[in-house]
Amino acid sequence: MLVVMQSNATEEQVRAVCERIETLGLKAHAIPGSGRTAIGITGNSGAVDLGVLESMSGVIECIPVTKPYKLVSRDVKEEDTVVRIPTPSGDVLVGGEHIAMVAGPCAVETEEQCFAIASQLKATGIRLFRGGAYKPRTSPYSFQGLGLSGLKILSMVRKQYGFGIVTEAIDNESLDLVEEYADVIQIGARNMQNFSLLKRAGRAKLPVLLKRGMSATLDEFLMAAEYILSEGNYNVMLCERGVRTFSDFSRNTLDLAVVPAVKKRSHLPILVDPSHGTGKRHKVLPLSRAAVAVGADGLLVEVHHQPEKALSDGIQSIVPDEYAELLDEVRQISTVLKRKVN
Ligand code: PEP
Ligand code: MN
Repeated sequence: MLVVMQSNATEEQVRAVCERIETLGLKAHAIPGSGRTAIGITGNSGAVDLGVLESMSGVIECIPVTKPYKLVSRDVKEEDTVVRIPTPSGDVLVGGEHIAMVAGPCAVETEEQCFAIASQLKATGIRLFRGGAYKPRTSPYSFQGLGLSGLKILSMVRKQYGFGIVTEAIDNESLDLVEEYADVIQIGARNMQNFSLLKRAGRAKLPVLLKRGMSATLDEFLMAAEYILSEGNYNVMLCERGVRTFSDFSRNTLDLAVVPAVKKRSHLPILVDPSHGTGKRHKVLPLSRAAVAVGADGLLVEVHHQPEKALSDGIQSIVPDEYAELLDEVRQISTVLKRKVN
């Protein structure tokens, strides 16, 4: 259910409608748009009695939402959501006209490794640094990440270079720590349908980067995001990272067609990860160009200064010089699209 407010509705009118919704035992989500505010209602198992809300001042109409997701839908908010990521060097914007570049190693390995990569990435002008301290590995015998000491290394990188830190939480315990040390909580492909983790992320104060599950349909992807918004965290960025298909020449099949499909249905920004999406270093640059051309709101790219020595995903990691070239091309493509790269 969606309550559409008049364009000139006052804050008190919006508040009064939200309070009435809460007294019905439901949850109200006021989502301001440029023209009007819409109030999404969640927590209802059946139809809501419209009469009581429709007669309140400032309300235009109540619309039943038949889709399995509501808050992520364009029905609730017509214009693109621009997620604001506070970082030590100022806010980074993602979505709308803003394209966000996130780069760094697959995993935090050592302080020296992170600083070597971070110093070269800083020189390119990007503002968001990625690196996993908790690694969800297919084999229990593969490197699992440094955990808390990895987060501490990331926070040193943050302090030294002013980067916003994007790092993965794999369970509620690691999410508590990621919330303390980082700027964006990443939820990985393997956890896209870990509903208790999604709910916990929905109660977090930081923006969330939600990666698409490796065999998730578009509706499943959007419903996973809906879990986060339904708990009150509206700062969600989606990320396409490739899906499993019969194709055997790359690690995954990067589904770039999902970008315009998401944009048609949802106001949330969507980034693309060409590293996990292809699994091969030589494909990262061409797929990055394509992702930006198709409308991606950002790129998540694995960069390592010594990929042959990387403890995870060296085969798909590019070196900082290659990243600088990638960024240069992305900037040129973005100019054609009248978008800004940060
Ligand atoms: C990652 O980005 O570090 C990662 C593990 O990716 P995914 O969850 O997409 O496999
Ligand atoms: Mn990786």
